[in-house]
Amino acid sequence: MNIKAEDLVFGRWPEILSAAGMDSRFFNLKNGPCPFCGGSDRFRWAKKNGGCWVCNQCTEGRYASGFRMLMDHMGYRSFREAADHVRSYFGAGEHIQAIVREAREARGNEMSPDQAQRNLQRIMRFWDEGRSITRDDPVDRYLRRRVPGLDVEPCMLRYHPALEYWAPPEQEGGKPVSLGKHPAMLALALDVHGDPVQLHKTFLTPAGEKAAVPLTKKTDYGLGITSFAIRMMEPLGDTLGVSEGIETGLAAVMLRRIPVWPCLNGPAMAQFQLPEELKGQIRRLVIFADHDERKRAGVVDGVQKFRRPGSFYAEQLAQRVRKEGVKVLVIKAASEGQDMANQWVAQCERSHNH
Ligand SMILES: [Zn+2]
Repeated sequence: MNIKAEDLVFGRWPEILSAAGMDSRFFNLKNGPCPFCGGSDRFRWAKKNGGCWVCNQCTEGRYASGFRMLMDHMGYRSFREAADHVRSYFGAGEHIQAIVREAREARGNEMSPDQAQRNLQRIMRFWDEGRSITRDDPVDRYLRRRVPGLDVEPCMLRYHPALEYWAPPEQEGGKPVSLGKHPAMLALALDVHGDPVQLHKTFLTPAGEKAAVPLTKKTDYGLGITSFAIRMMEPLGDTLGVSEGIETGLAAVMLRRIPVWPCLNGPAMAQFQLPEELKGQIRRLVIFADHDERKRAGVVDGVQKFRRPGSFYAEQLAQRVRKEGVKVLVIKAASEGQDMANQWVAQCERSHNH
């Protein structure tokens, strides 16, 4: 019998992760310090989807799987390593079939097609409430502040005049709390087939600064699809760029003068796929990697491992795309903690001073 690791983990992550050396207090369902980036209350384990975690920093407030936690903790570079770990944790034998059966039954309440449909309707309702960006609206001001001299008109970005900010409930099972309506930048992400699957929101002030809310940037619930991009510009030549952030993507456009598609976060960038219709056309993919600070990535054979998340995701994407015969260039910001947006601002300041 071929056992899929996904069939073993439902409701069992605290057990698996504790056995891998994680402190069991991380699974007490209360807000607390994050095992990866510290702090005091930014992290919480939740029972949703058979067990997942959220950190305001590491996962930007979104739920992430136990597999990702295991990868981060152990320093695994691929899902396969994490899956092997899970399989070897349970071992072989008769009892494993019972675990698989149990988990499949428990998993019945995962995101249903109905739920995905409701999430899509919600995404499209916000998107339809948005309007084109015009000179001096809050989104225009925000983008020109972040990317001085910006002279392209990005597609798939809109201005929402009054988007309600919902803060998550204080306790699991509580009610979300409204923190008022704010101007916002909306970005609609499409999957490889060109279908909308995710909406990214940046909450702003009328002057185009970041709004005073706990998380200025949020993604909606989505449809459970993890590979998507903001098709911000039409690819005309044979070169396409990808980035994590929208602002870094626009800065990369200014620096390199190529079309760039932001993927919104590192894991989504690692999973980026070229749409079928572009496969003959795009011969070169330029990956703009954030130059993140080193993060703790688990202990392997008694040695603390570190990695830079930006480079890690860029490298995952590069390896996969090279195998498809596309040339890959990874461009990383010059110094630690920097991204293309900082680099572009620095370049503008240098040329201004000369
Ligand atoms: Zn964290």
